[in-house]
Amino acid sequence: MAASIGDTFKPGQKVEASGIYDVIHDPAHDKHQVTCVYGDSFPPCNHCGHHVRFRLAVAATHVNNHEHFKKKR
Ligand SMILES: [Zn+2]
Repeated sequence: MAASIGDTFKPGQKVEASGIYDVIHDPAHDKHQVTCVYGDSFPPCNHCGHHVRFRLAVAATHVNNHEHFKKKR
């Protein structure tokens, strides 16, 4: 896994580990959590733009990429 718990990412960076991220905005709005999926890019916030940060809280392989659930070819 290319990302560790507590690593912080900026909008525009690639998501290196699917999982639950703490979202840290400008102090104007509250912290919350989102799920981000490997291969996507972290988006800017509609309110605080590129100041938002995403901190990996719980890494979890996306079900479609897990060996037990991968589609058979
Ligand atoms: Zn924001």
